[in-house]
Amino acid sequence: MARQVSLQRTRNIGIMAHIDAGKTTTTERVLYYTGVSHKMGEVHDGTAQMDYMPQEQERGITITAAATTCLWRDHRINILDTPGHVDFTIEVERSLRVLDGSIAVFCSVGGVEPQSETVWRQADRYGVPKIAFVNKMDRIGADFYKVMDQIKARLGAVPLAIQLPIGSENEFEGVVDLIDRKAIIWDDESLGAEFRISELEGELAEQAQAWRAKLVETLADHDDKLLELFLSDQSISDDELRGAIRRATLGLRLVPVLCGAAFRNKGIQPLLDAVVQYLPSPLDVPPISGINPRKEREEQRPPDDDGPLCALAFKVQTDSYVGQLCYLRIYSGKVKAGSSVYNATKDRKERIGRLLKMHANKREDVKEAYSGDILAAVGLHHTITGDTLCSMDRPIVLEGLNSPEPVISIAIEPKTQTDQERLSESLAKIAVEDPTFKVRVDEETCQTLISGMGELHLEIIVDRLMREFSVKANVGKPQVAYKETLAAAGSAKAVYERQTGNRGHYGKVVLEVAPTQRGSGLGFINKTHGAVPKEFIPFVERGVRESLDSGTLAGYPVIDVEVKLVDGDYHDVDSNDIDFKIAAQMAFANAAKQVGSKLLEPLMAVEIVTPEEHLGDVIGDLNSRRGRIKAMEARGQMHVVHAEVPLAEMFGYSTDLRSQTQGRATYTMQFDRYEEVPAQLAQEIVTRIRGY
Ligand code: GDP
Repeated sequence: MARQVSLQRTRNIGIMAHIDAGKTTTTERVLYYTGVSHKMGEVHDGTAQMDYMPQEQERGITITAAATTCLWRDHRINILDTPGHVDFTIEVERSLRVLDGSIAVFCSVGGVEPQSETVWRQADRYGVPKIAFVNKMDRIGADFYKVMDQIKARLGAVPLAIQLPIGSENEFEGVVDLIDRKAIIWDDESLGAEFRISELEGELAEQAQAWRAKLVETLADHDDKLLELFLSDQSISDDELRGAIRRATLGLRLVPVLCGAAFRNKGIQPLLDAVVQYLPSPLDVPPISGINPRKEREEQRPPDDDGPLCALAFKVQTDSYVGQLCYLRIYSGKVKAGSSVYNATKDRKERIGRLLKMHANKREDVKEAYSGDILAAVGLHHTITGDTLCSMDRPIVLEGLNSPEPVISIAIEPKTQTDQERLSESLAKIAVEDPTFKVRVDEETCQTLISGMGELHLEIIVDRLMREFSVKANVGKPQVAYKETLAAAGSAKAVYERQTGNRGHYGKVVLEVAPTQRGSGLGFINKTHGAVPKEFIPFVERGVRESLDSGTLAGYPVIDVEVKLVDGDYHDVDSNDIDFKIAAQMAFANAAKQVGSKLLEPLMAVEIVTPEEHLGDVIGDLNSRRGRIKAMEARGQMHVVHAEVPLAEMFGYSTDLRSQTQGRATYTMQFDRYEEVPAQLAQEIVTRIRGY
């Protein structure tokens, strides 16, 4: 079986946008015009193709980056839907990792909003070429040119208008194609499936001429080949222009800008043309690299069907029909349904049962998948998000996906024993799909605590538990996920010695502990030379790790410490693994008691956009929330305040901000780092938790 579409004609793209800019509608229209879906779903009536989890339909936001596929002009376009809410940055990051190019959707009224900036910068970090689509040209206040200016000013990019809108607000009819110098007008009757292409006339022709001249100049500034043509005064053909736009876009030097109104079915076909013309194929991006675990050296896997298999599992989803769906991006080689692959991250063999191409919520079984493909595999039991699958004889481990710290948690108490069992099972399933979400059982209260990235993230998980997995439970209020660390460096020893039946137990461990820099995690170093036999060392480490799950101050996880095993003792006959694990736990507890612990809280980076008349109130309020103002800037009529505020002070902020500013200010918030809680407050929190 040969591949249906060549690598050159493959596009792996994401659609990124601020919430409500129209990403779902745009994606849904793309699927409609490419002939995949036959009934046009609208987001507001909850039948859009991409958003297939019930909660997503109710909320109208896309939570899960589902990958779908479609064909346009003999090209295969795989679309990864990326969420626009900052609670789900990991979803954005994971799709940016596997896509080659992106469409950035902006609302023609709202323009470049803070969250669009966040996602844009993430895409820049991953070197993803982009085209911009200014959507909602039919809305009152639509302003294509303003959004062009914002792309320049706020995103520091070079926007290149390759279209102009014809009319705007309720007179928006279509677009001028500045390369072809033609007008494209959509037919409302056919739901935009049909359009008229006509010559430009009058004022529109003049306007187009001026903008085309601008386009050529901008291109000449960013493409040497075009500059040469431009300077030599030769006429420049349309194809030469397109070639230059493609080169400059792939080189991340500029961003072609198009416009339309997805909801009114206008502008989608040219957008698809632009994807094909200007966004990269897998051959146009640098080859993926990873580490060969056997040789411990970096290797590359250029896209090639005849090369060794190399694929990244970028998303695992539980599916009620087929069990677990594992989304793969195949970088090199090919893979057959029913074949065995090697999970190099886990060092184990896996069998791929079925391979599914995902057309929104429909699936198509395929027998074989090739380099450059994005699709889902069924039957993988040990593969989780971030793992690399490859061929056994050419192993490679690609860089995993780093998950940010969950900062907020919620307590769940199942109603019955059955619910308890169901809860554990369901949580385990959700945890495989979503590495940013953590589960912990509080030893003292026996409550199950789930932690996530934000209030919305947890709400969605709780909702899934109740609906999809039918767990009945009482749910607590969201709580800050505090952490602990050691207050100072110190050392302690412990001896574990016991007699059970005929058997003796013996293990002695001496530890040196010290707090380390924020974000460094646990460093464990063995400094003994034979005082503790080699085979027991991993158990000492395991004991230390388990101790970190629950700190001595208030039972929160302990982070950022270095632990050295400096001495110990063992007994030839009596000592075993568990003795050393217990001794290590005892020694760590002794050390922690001796040096004391500090309480850490998540600090959020908050950005508020407010009209000037409310600036004073907003700042005053931030101060009362222990916030620190880091910077302020003017953005048109609005003021942007950048601040750092402890998460504990941010509950209910959206309501407060709305009432302070009559709903005219907006904000976004993202986890920044853990920071020490002021002593007095820490004392109060510990007292409250400990109940004394
Ligand atoms: P997302 O949050 O970016 O996925 O945005 P959606 O696609 O869910 O769109 C948000 C809202 O804007 C929905 O109510 C859409 O119907 C509406 N919308 C999307 N595109 C357009 C458009 O071109 N014009 C207008 N007027 N509304 C639109």
